[in-house]
Amino acid sequence: MISSFMKIHASYSIPVSMIRQFCFCPRIFYFEEVLSLHPEKPLWVDQGVAYHFKEMSLFKRRSLKKFNLSDAIKHYELPMYSELLSIHGKADLLLETDEFIIPVEIKTQTSKPSRGQIYQLCAYGLIGELQFKKKCSKGFFLLKTKDKTFPVSLTEEVKNDVKKVINNIHQVACENILPDTSATTNQCNQCEYINFCNDRNFNY
Ligand code: SF4
Repeated sequence: MISSFMKIHASYSIPVSMIRQFCFCPRIFYFEEVLSLHPEKPLWVDQGVAYHFKEMSLFKRRSLKKFNLSDAIKHYELPMYSELLSIHGKADLLLETDEFIIPVEIKTQTSKPSRGQIYQLCAYGLIGELQFKKKCSKGFFLLKTKDKTFPVSLTEEVKNDVKKVINNIHQVACENILPDTSATTNQCNQCEYINFCNDRNFNY
């Protein structure tokens, strides 16, 4: 099989969403991007997309006064790309002030964001710093709970961790070998690639 990665590896750019997926399980990146396998998505993915659009249109009418960001320029669904970092994606929202850029992600969950989700948010901040030539030191999530905002401090440490994940993703892509994983049974049971991981030992 000639994978999409092999066809484009010379200028390969990682979709930002893969940073979150890679943190969940590196094999998802391998199956999706290196082997170009795309099994049917579970129903809740479509429901999540519908919720996302609804929240996005509601947010467009909201004031940012309570975040002290009423003067910020709102860039919705902004296509973003960094040649330096070799990543690209579309941020739900990027707020731009005179000095700063602040990425915002809209989520269907009520629980606090995972490490992978925070790294994805941070990746948009990293691209934004380069694209807008402004500093990014925080971002936030809008969660499904009514009016629930979850702020995240995007420190240099978090940014360096994200860069390490990006390097690890490139390494998996270059090696083109099924990566090891520490995914738990619980994670695998909610994963659409479960039929491709028959080496996993599940204790049902
Ligand atoms: S089934 Fe488990 S090991 Fe396989 S890709 Fe999904 S999470 Fe990873």
